[in-house]
This record gives sequence, structure tokens and C-alpha cells, in this order.
Amino acid sequence: MVYSERQASVLAAARKLAPVQAVLVTHPPDVRYLSGFTGSNAALCITAKAAVLITDGRYTTQARQECVGTRVIIASRAVPDEACIWLEKSRVTLCGYDAGITTVNALERMRKGISGKLRRKFFFPLAQTAAGLREIKERSELSQQQKAANLGCKVFEQMLGVIAPGMREIEVAAELEYRARSLGAEGMSFDTIVASGPRSALPHGRASMARLPRKGFVTLDFGVILGGYCSDMTRTVHLGRAGDAERKTYDAVLAAELAAIEAVHAGASCGEVDAAARDLLYKAKLAKWFTHSTGHGVGLEIHEGPRIARGQQQKLLPGMVITIEPGVYLPGKFGIRIEDMVEVTRSGCRIMTPAPKSWIEL
Ligand code: ZN
Ligand code: ZN
Repeated sequence: MVYSERQASVLAAARKLAPVQAVLVTHPPDVRYLSGFTGSNAALCITAKAAVLITDGRYTTQARQECVGTRVIIASRAVPDEACIWLEKSRVTLCGYDAGITTVNALERMRKGISGKLRRKFFFPLAQTAAGLREIKERSELSQQQKAANLGCKVFEQMLGVIAPGMREIEVAAELEYRARSLGAEGMSFDTIVASGPRSALPHGRASMARLPRKGFVTLDFGVILGGYCSDMTRTVHLGRAGDAERKTYDAVLAAELAAIEAVHAGASCGEVDAAARDLLYKAKLAKWFTHSTGHGVGLEIHEGPRIARGQQQKLLPGMVITIEPGVYLPGKFGIRIEDMVEVTRSGCRIMTPAPKSWIEL
């Protein structure tokens, strides 16, 4: 059973750091990963003997359907309070929690749920619970994520027949999201980015009321969620005839993207992959306009580990799904970004977003 194996790994990893008898998981994507439960309010308590999912009355039916092999408790008080009672009843005296996502208020609250004498030393801060495990995708996750990526590519190809000068960016986003939902997407991975003309120089230009120019770039950066898994891709197309500078810059960004993809393989460090993209842009005298990192892990969350950034020592492992997304942004002029999702393999990587990315003029 996949969930109980994952739960056991999380407890084992925590026990390497401290003699905890339990791990408390509250970050919804981690809860989902470890139990199957997709609701927004839950605490998953894992001990060597048992795992229980505690949630509120709204989720009674859903939790029992989704949690295979994990006991469900419907809280008769607030979820954290119920979790504390269960942990104490299970004779836990030291419990790991996710210090990366737990607010100071939430920790205070959890502490208050524990009896006076145990309270002070009951909770042990872990840098993460399931995040490290989630970086490496299992076969079933990879196929789910591939389906999300395929849907994204299909939407992009449809959009090539839709995008036209005079449309508002927000209309482009609406058309794109309408198509994604019509094809079965559960939602978008993040607010769709449509940045056109001089706005394409904004790396995170959310779709605005601006109209697409007769001549200029349009950057589409978007993702869909399917079966809980996010896709993420960016394509930049040109409306009308482009000048030399536009063409040259596009070619440089594409070359940087391909070089970074070429550098991906199990055992390579994240920093090396970032450097592969950056070096190419350096040679093209564009590196100073590449103002963000090369990529990130993607899965149940749109941004997760590993970080593909300058100087990152972390090594890539088979089964990681990462994005490669160099970009160049010339303020007041134009910007270009090209982004693919790739699966890291032993000898290299597999591109999951095969939508066209050579020069497109509409
Ligand atoms: Zn993106
Ligand atoms: Zn991305």
C-alpha cells in the first residue's frame, strides 16, 4: 500500500533527527500525499503503530472514501485540539511537526492542547515532513503528471488559433482557461500569465486589460491541475514580423533552454543545470537580463523542491520532475521565456511538454 509506505518513510526520516514517537502533518499537499485525503482542513498523525486522519464534519463522507488504510476521526472540537488529544492518548511525548509551514500562532495553539507537564517539550521542529519524499515521483504520479502536461500542450496549440492583435490579455487568459476546463482540468496551477508587447518584459506579468499589439511578443505561462498534479509551461510567440533583435534574442533564450535540458541527468547538481542556461546567455551578452532562477520542482504544488538555481548543490535524482525556464527581459522593450517540464532519468531527461517551441510568428 503506497500510503502506508510513504507514512513509514516520513516517520523514519524524522526519527533520524530526534527520538520522536509521532509526526504531525498539516500541510494539505503533504496530507494528500500521505493519505489520499484532498480536503483543506486536516491533521494526519503518524506513529509506528497507527496513522489517523483528523478532519471536520464537512468531510465525513469524503474522508472515508479517500483515505485508504488510514483511520479517520471526525473532530468534535477544532482539528488541532483533537490531534493533541489523540497524540497524548497514544502515549506520545515527543512529536515532530513541519516548522516550514506551521505559523507561530498555530504552534502556540497546538502547545495549549497538550497537558501542562508535557507541553513545553512536546513538539519538535522538522524542516519538512513529506516534501523531500515528494520530490521523487512514483510511476503512478509520473503518468498523472504527464496527463496534466499533455492537456497543457493541447490548450497551447488551440490558443495559436485564437491569439490575435487587439485582444485583451485578460480575454486570452479567459479563452485559455475555458479550454483547459473544457478538456477536464480541475483548475489552473496558478494565475495564468499573459504578457504582451513591452509587458512581456515583466517576468510575472499577470494578464491585464492591455491589448495585444499588431507587432510584438506574447508570453503565455500557465499550468493545469489534473488528478491533483500541476503542469507548468511557457511559450513566447511573436505577432507580426519581428526585427533582428527579437529573432536573435529568441534564438539565444531557446539555445539556453536546450543547453539546460542537455545538462539534466541523475547526479548532476541543480547549480550545474542553472549554469548551463546562464553561460549561454552570458556568451550572448544577455545574462544580466536573466533575472530569475532556471527552474523548480513541480508536483502536487506548483513550486516545490528542488530549486534549479545558481549555486544549488542538491543533486538531481531519477523521478524528479523539474521545469527548465530561462528568460530574458529587456525593460521597456520586450521579454522572452521558454519553459518545459522534464522528468529526470538516469542518463538524461524526458521532456514532458512537447508543444512546439521553435520560432512562431502569428
Ligand atoms: Zn511557468
Ligand atoms: Zn515554472
